[in-house]
Amino acid sequence: MNGKDENLGLVRLSERCYGYMQKDEGLGWSNSGLIAGHDSALLIDTLFDLPLTRKMLAEIEDKVRKPVRQLVNTHHNGDHWWGNQLVEGAQIIGHRMFRSEMMKMTPETVHVIDSLPSDMPAVGLLKKAMAPFDFSGIKLTPPTLVFDDRLTLYIGDQEVELIHVGPAHTATDVIVFFPGEKVLYAGDIIFRLCTPIGWEGTFKNWISALDTIIRLAPEKIVPGHGPLCGLEGAKEMRDYLNYIYAEARSCFDRGLTTAEASKAIDPGPYAGWTEPERIVFSVARAYREFRGEPYDAPSDPFEMANIMAEIRQRL
Ligand SMILES: [Zn+2]
Repeated sequence: MNGKDENLGLVRLSERCYGYMQKDEGLGWSNSGLIAGHDSALLIDTLFDLPLTRKMLAEIEDKVRKPVRQLVNTHHNGDHWWGNQLVEGAQIIGHRMFRSEMMKMTPETVHVIDSLPSDMPAVGLLKKAMAPFDFSGIKLTPPTLVFDDRLTLYIGDQEVELIHVGPAHTATDVIVFFPGEKVLYAGDIIFRLCTPIGWEGTFKNWISALDTIIRLAPEKIVPGHGPLCGLEGAKEMRDYLNYIYAEARSCFDRGLTTAEASKAIDPGPYAGWTEPERIVFSVARAYREFRGEPYDAPSDPFEMANIMAEIRQRL
């Protein structure tokens, strides 16, 4: 593509609110956000590596010219916080479970993938997804202020609402709402026009997180992945989860395995979403619930990646 897409990079959404939008090219290409006050700014999420986060902070400095004094991490997946160390001196805020969850995947885990043979389809797929990122120099820098259910911050005299809605996409999911300008930062509660991946959590909680967003009635939403949207982004995501849950139930009742169900389910109205092979994550999560397992029962990432590779080969 030639020229700069005006919907990428730092995009102004209202008087004080911005989205920092990255082109969604698969795993790890996340969005961030910024709310600017008179003398300082609140950043919502950093990016997957240091070069990407540096580029974002340079654009903020250039266009907004306010020091970032507070940073909220919407959850503990690396693509939303591994750049934290670059926001020097900022207070970092997240959910109470962040510190216990954050070690589930670290930059070292990614280096382990590097050392595995690429001719295994699952490894090849993971390596290809990770190749654009530079994970060197990352010093894990977690929140220093944690909360349980809700926290209200002030930008000048205007409220910013932080609401824990997990375990939905992960245990630590937080949404950030700026009621004064009706802008909401959804983290990975919303994947827009791309197939979602979920980790610890339940369909019920994820759907209820989307209901919370719909009740707040924001006019503009920055999703964790994919382009900017309005309430239609929350509604479609909720419809998708309901659809996959019902389809997975029927496959489960017919005795299909996770792999068989992931291949059998017709993506229906969501066929145009990118990364369709990620459906395996939703099916595995639904099966976990049908079997009565805990919301954080781990899945085998290589088994998941193998099924993804098989589905991708058929596309
Ligand atoms: Zn993400």
